Amino acid sequence: LKNAKKLRDSYSFYDSSMNEHMETYFYENELHRAILNNEIELYYQPKIDMDTGSIQGVEALSRWFHPEQGMISPGVFIPIAEETGLIFSMTDYVIKKACEDYVSWKKAGINIPSFSVNISAKQFAKREFVTEVLDIIDAYQIPKGVFEIEITESITMDIENNLGKLNQLREAGIKISIDDFGTGYSSLKYMRDLPVDFVKIDRSFINMIGFNEGKNMVDFIVDLAKLCEVEIIGEGVETQAQMNYLRSIGCRIGQGFYFSKPIPAKEIEQLLYVVK
Ligand code: C2E
Ligand code: MG
Ligand code: MG
Ligand code: MG
Repeated sequence: LKNAKKLRDSYSFYDSSMNEHMETYFYENELHRAILNNEIELYYQPKIDMDTGSIQGVEALSRWFHPEQGMISPGVFIPIAEETGLIFSMTDYVIKKACEDYVSWKKAGINIPSFSVNISAKQFAKREFVTEVLDIIDAYQIPKGVFEIEITESITMDIENNLGKLNQLREAGIKISIDDFGTGYSSLKYMRDLPVDFVKIDRSFINMIGFNEGKNMVDFIVDLAKLCEVEIIGEGVETQAQMNYLRSIGCRIGQGFYFSKPIPAKEIEQLLYVVK
């Protein structure tokens, strides 16, 4: 439970003599309680069409508002959810909540073209994953092409186990993004034939745009995406210079603090301005 350190440190009653088994049990209960008490909220970060300045879509990012500890980031609690198996009920909750938010935006006359949810490898590996997702988006009557999942390279590269599911999802009108692209094990061999819609180039590469070798890496990934006819999204855009560079090489969609931080669902209206 390496990732539990921050959470652990925040509990004054944590006893360092707890063994790993007790610790797991402890967090499982805390997270379980959090899910039941609606302490997990979704924030949304826009993806911007940098040609027009309009919103191409939004990404749902989980936040845990602990009554005593305040906000706990997903980098801390998602790994715990994965280790304890709570990721299954959490993902179910997150997908439903995102659909609910989409439906209320629509009711309020706010038109968000698409919304995405991050899916852990463990969740994707679940045998009933596809039917469970389809049941939910069906129940909320989400139009085809609006719901999107963000998965990592580890999933797309395990062709043998996952190609069938990827195809099923796409046939049902669900868009697929490869998240944090470039940080995992990619295979050029598979890239071209993968049934995915977007590749999100990881923030660490966007960060290097100010340096020549960094630029070369970004150029390479963007060229590769074009060759494979996959749309590219620049993650973690923080400066105008980074945006300008991405646009100059034909990367149309950007996401990052330069445009907006993740914000609560209720504040989504404030995003509906033109960025350019
Ligand atoms: P991710 O999906 O790659 O999301 C992008 C992360 O980068 C988010 O962190 C976002 O707040 C942050 N970010 C966005 N723009 C910028 C920027 O310009 N600069 C910097 N420095 N950071 C930026 P967050 O919200 O802490 O999420 C971390 C990760 O936790 C996510 O990475 C995702 O993998 C995971 N995650 C979040 N919510 C969920 C969830 O509901 N389910 C699952 N399975 N994973 C989730
Ligand atoms: Mg993501
Ligand atoms: Mg990412
Ligand atoms: Mg990332």
